[in-house]
Amino acid sequence: MKRIYLDNAAATPIGAKSLSTMVATTKKFPGNPSGIHKEGRDARAFLERSRGQVAGVLFARPDEIVFTSGATEANNMAVIGVVHSARTRGIMNPHVIVSAIEHPSVLEAALYLKSSGVRVDYLPVDSRGLVNTKEIRKLITPETVLVSVMYANNEIGTIEPIIDIAKEVRHARKVNGSVYPYFHTDAAQAGNYLDMNVLKLGVDLMTLSSGKTYGPRGIGALFVKRMVEMCPLMHGGGHEGNRRPGTEPVALAVGFSVALKESQSIREKESSRLQKLRDTLATKILKKVSGASVNGSLEHGLPNILNISFDGVESEALVLYLDAAGIAVSGKSACRSSTSGPSHVILAVGESADMQVGSIRFSLGSDTKSEDIARVANEVSRIVPLLREAQAQSDQV
Ligand code: PMP
Repeated sequence: MKRIYLDNAAATPIGAKSLSTMVATTKKFPGNPSGIHKEGRDARAFLERSRGQVAGVLFARPDEIVFTSGATEANNMAVIGVVHSARTRGIMNPHVIVSAIEHPSVLEAALYLKSSGVRVDYLPVDSRGLVNTKEIRKLITPETVLVSVMYANNEIGTIEPIIDIAKEVRHARKVNGSVYPYFHTDAAQAGNYLDMNVLKLGVDLMTLSSGKTYGPRGIGALFVKRMVEMCPLMHGGGHEGNRRPGTEPVALAVGFSVALKESQSIREKESSRLQKLRDTLATKILKKVSGASVNGSLEHGLPNILNISFDGVESEALVLYLDAAGIAVSGKSACRSSTSGPSHVILAVGESADMQVGSIRFSLGSDTKSEDIARVANEVSRIVPLLREAQAQSDQV
């Protein structure tokens, strides 16, 4: 039985060109880019070409790209690095604003700062998962050093109004007569489907993840606009413009840059293909299964993410039954599946804790075909009543 993989928001398969370029680079044995010998210079050339390619996709300058181990590190670097730097500039009680539905790597970084006296405010979202741009104006104070709102949510797919938020942040800077606040966006889920032009978006910092854009895992990047002050998280050598020490993973950088460029070059075509499949899947499931509802908003969502709650069904049971039927989906975001308790995202969009128990994320990708959609809808409509029946029987006992 052919497996159907609908967990692309957690990890994408590596693209053929990304893999072959990466393998070819590894075989050529680039040395350490810090070396001044030929092997080192060759490695440096690969690395800088990759940096240039990533920068090109973002309409950024190469020196504005810091390679990291992934989006988690980039998010930590942005949030903690900006606050530490603000303190060195004399802002002793910095204030940070994050949306309520950020990835844990932003929320937990903010929580860590809270323990050292940083004030953190959370921007609420509406039932579609959208932040209200006007709320930002109410929350910003002269001490606000960072606003962090994700480009697109990893659980429900909602695309946030980044351009409008950036305008609010610039307005606040003008009013405060300050370089602060900076605006950071976590674009880990956006690379395959959305415009990544940082000039148009108006962001100061932006997080990328290779493993979500058909590149190798273990690498990502943080765009840091020139003039933005950010302390490094780690200490060591002067790599990545003194912002991230450690020997650079040259082959991973090559694979990442190839994958990101390729994803961006087909993003419009792929977005409209997947949006049709996503909408068909939603229609079929809602028609076949009672007590099912979409979390977030398809209208404002990424074309590849569909999150549905099923009344009276435990998400883990449904994930496991679908897995046995050859279908991979996730019950919450993968990063949270090992932690118990309701998803903060589903709760923030207003579902009750009970309702969210059965929320399932279907995330489509390059391998998703139209024939997969009917099979998934059929299996969901076969399994959900079985699980409800089992639940009703165990309630009776
Ligand atoms: N931010 C978002 C929006 C994500 O979806 C993820 C991955 N689940 C991350 C950050 C963390 O990414 P990584 O695994 O590259 O650290």
